[in-house]
Amino acid sequence: MPKVAFHTLGCKLNYAETSILGKQFADRGFELVDFGQQADVCVINTCSVTERANRECRQIIRRALRAFRQPLVVVTGCYAQLEPEHVASIDGVDYVLGTKEKFNLFNHVDSLEKKLYPHVAVSDIHDVDNFGIGYSTEATDRTRAFLKVQDGCDYNCSFCTIPLARGASRSQSIQTCVEQSRLLVEQGYKEIVLTGVNVGDYGKKADTDLLSLLNALVGVDGLQRIRISSIEPNLLTDEILDFVAGEKKMAPHFHIPLQSGSDIILRAMRRRYTTQHYSDLIHRIRTKIPDCGIGVDVIVGFPGESDALFEETHHFLAELPVSYLHIFTYSERPNTPATGIADPVEPRVRFQRNKTLRILSQKKKDAFHQQMVGHEVPVLFEGDVADGIRFGFSGNYVRVGVPANNVGENELVMSRIVEPRNDFVLAERTSGRSGTVDAVNAGIPLMVI
Ligand code: SF4
Repeated sequence: MPKVAFHTLGCKLNYAETSILGKQFADRGFELVDFGQQADVCVINTCSVTERANRECRQIIRRALRAFRQPLVVVTGCYAQLEPEHVASIDGVDYVLGTKEKFNLFNHVDSLEKKLYPHVAVSDIHDVDNFGIGYSTEATDRTRAFLKVQDGCDYNCSFCTIPLARGASRSQSIQTCVEQSRLLVEQGYKEIVLTGVNVGDYGKKADTDLLSLLNALVGVDGLQRIRISSIEPNLLTDEILDFVAGEKKMAPHFHIPLQSGSDIILRAMRRRYTTQHYSDLIHRIRTKIPDCGIGVDVIVGFPGESDALFEETHHFLAELPVSYLHIFTYSERPNTPATGIADPVEPRVRFQRNKTLRILSQKKKDAFHQQMVGHEVPVLFEGDVADGIRFGFSGNYVRVGVPANNVGENELVMSRIVEPRNDFVLAERTSGRSGTVDAVNAGIPLMVI
């Protein structure tokens, strides 16, 4: 039986898509083996969000070539779409397949013979309209699945290569999302994370929207929790907010890209909101869902970000009642308008700003954890156990640990937060085994132990 190994870089969407490719290989009689084991084919699904991601892709390809006895090497994903000639120039690469070609890989890979010259098939990104349905899970976790509901983006933020790599916004039908969710529930998953490039844009071209999708998904029997991976601030409507506030199955958690706390930089980034809009939104969330977990993406070192403008961002974030930050350091990406903007920020300064915001993020996280002490929250426990503590996530995305002998994997139980630790909070279980979401979210102990 021929063997195939996969390596995935980048976002959850890439992982979801690798699972589709894995199924295609399995359907053709391939055995899936771990990356690093001897394989006949090695597929690398790449990312190209930052210059570092590009470097990482090149290293992984070289590692695959060193580690295996001459496997067939197929490189696909965003880096392959954006820089096919670079990928093809790496010794040992046999196939370079773009975004459109990714899901009809077997139209291109016709034998396991290594090629004398790489076969490059990369369509113009404007022709990309296909949608691979997929979901991914984490190796240690049989509780939470990342379901791909949307792909591509119609925005044109000046720093971003994603529209160039993934094409226009498109969505999976509600019916298919519901069917996929049912399958995941049958496999034992209790939580589904809705994943895409711009999830808030869901359904735009099919005359539907994210709220309709959420309404349909909460009706899936056995599905206990639904989480939105990330949503643009201009697309998080009051209707969605009210729905999340009032629906027990919706995780009270939003991850909302901000990118900069300076209106001057937001304009240069071509973002579609102002700091005032963003701040109002965060305060509305806090009023309607006081314990909501709120995560923020920020980019530091965008061209033109002077010390004073960075200080504006720092101050804006310091005042904002959010729970954690994800900080990205700006890097110049070919073919993006931002590369033409004057006043690049020195790399040393970018690094320093990243550090400053990481310190702020830790303070926010610590304060949020402290605020949760004494609260009872539903926690979905995972396979992750260390030093006698089993870990899981609350609906509001706090990493919670309880003594491992009190709870099993994939149990959703009420837990009272006792004490913040370094990167998690220690809790005690307060509800019985295998609580249903209604009982758990209502805080009803089923069988107190
Ligand atoms: S919204 Fe902006 S940053 Fe996000 S994927 Fe679209 S273009 Fe890129």
